[in-house]
Amino acid sequence: MSNKQARFYESVLANFDRAAAYSGLPSGLLKQIRACNAVYQMRFPVKIGNKYEVIEAYRVQHSHHRLPTKGGIRFSHHVNQEEVMALASLMTYKCAIVDVPFGGAKGGVKVSPRSYSENELERITRRYTTELIRKNFIGPGTDVPAPDYGTGPREMAWILDTYQVLKNGEIDALGCVTGKPVSHGGIAGRTEATGRGVFYGLREIVSYADDMAELGLKPGMKGKTIVIQGLGNVGTYTGSICQKEGGAIIVGVSEIEGTIYNKTGIDIDKLVKFRKKTGSILGFPGTTTLKERNDWVGIECDILIPAALESQIREDNADLVKAKIIGEAANGPVTDVAEDMLSKRGIVVVPDMYLNAGGVTVSYFEWLKNLSHMRFGRLQKRFDQNTYSNIVDIVEKTTGKKITNKEKAMIVRGADEVDLVRSGLEETMINAYKQIREIKKRKKKPITLREAAFLNALQKIASDYMQLGVFP
Ligand code: GLU
Repeated sequence: MSNKQARFYESVLANFDRAAAYSGLPSGLLKQIRACNAVYQMRFPVKIGNKYEVIEAYRVQHSHHRLPTKGGIRFSHHVNQEEVMALASLMTYKCAIVDVPFGGAKGGVKVSPRSYSENELERITRRYTTELIRKNFIGPGTDVPAPDYGTGPREMAWILDTYQVLKNGEIDALGCVTGKPVSHGGIAGRTEATGRGVFYGLREIVSYADDMAELGLKPGMKGKTIVIQGLGNVGTYTGSICQKEGGAIIVGVSEIEGTIYNKTGIDIDKLVKFRKKTGSILGFPGTTTLKERNDWVGIECDILIPAALESQIREDNADLVKAKIIGEAANGPVTDVAEDMLSKRGIVVVPDMYLNAGGVTVSYFEWLKNLSHMRFGRLQKRFDQNTYSNIVDIVEKTTGKKITNKEKAMIVRGADEVDLVRSGLEETMINAYKQIREIKKRKKKPITLREAAFLNALQKIASDYMQLGVFP
């Protein structure tokens, strides 16, 4: 195990301990919240080519205070037990912060997806699912996986199919996994959800004029300069939505092959197409390539968004940061030691457990859709449309004025599933930040946003435990 990965779990625990000290909660209860409840480590054989490979994999359920437990499955050659434990712990706090009624979990399969064919990945995913079923580590009421680094809707469809085959007749089987393709019981807007949530979160944070004044920034997303590390699902949607809906300027982008810069802005949608065609972000028209790949850390900008993996901003490079705000779109990209160094310099770190909670929020909506056996909007869309149309007709009749067909179409539209999902996500991100900000303001001693977010989660989890009668 590399030092970086070992530090990740330690860093999560250190952050927990720091916030726990302010919480006033009994130490027994804090110990229970802190610990990973169940760790399932497995090894299984999968035929690759004409040989068998023994695959190492995990599923960790961090907290059972609410069920099901919830969290993605990561496919990466870095996967190890401590990393999955750290990620599962973060899921518990994340769910509490956005009022998603789940415990936290996470899965990891130690494979590098790029080294396998689609067929081999399918066999690995199906075998992993079978192992989870055997030990009761998956199910709509027990533990519900989702995509994470290296997995997506395709893998979720394989998981669902394996589950349905082996659990024939289970009426709520569709709810055994989220992040599925819409054609297979998924929900519109899930794929973009984490990135869209990052946008709603950052937009809310930069909307407070007094907070921004402390950082020497003007309020509002428009014109803010942003650097993104990682053009995977989260980085791509974050960049594209901040740019298109927020009017932000993406001045730098970093990927495995290197880092590019353009102070007047990089069009993310065009960059993604360029990378698909050429296999690299380097050479994208109008940009310059920085000397080292890791130079993204030191680019001058308002908001730095690490959207790839953990432990990217560490003791050894935190001093290079020139941004005013770091938005943790990835899980654990800033180590605890680095955060101390950044905080001393007045740089605000927006914690992962709040900022990237959009994914699990929309997973929750998907799970509810699956359990209700009906798409959102089916009941009221037509009704709303007819009501709005009647209102417009009456207004036109009484005023004697007519609006254009285009205006009418805009007003009388009933909400589709994707509209409801986006509005539910927006409401969730705004509301959660208000709660965190309130806690931060209430404390006499200055605390970080991460400490405030942790305190918010701890209060909610503690009250759940007390209601369960576990800790009177
Ligand atoms: N893997 C995502 C996360 O880290 C989503 C989890 C989920 O939807 O359950 O939050």
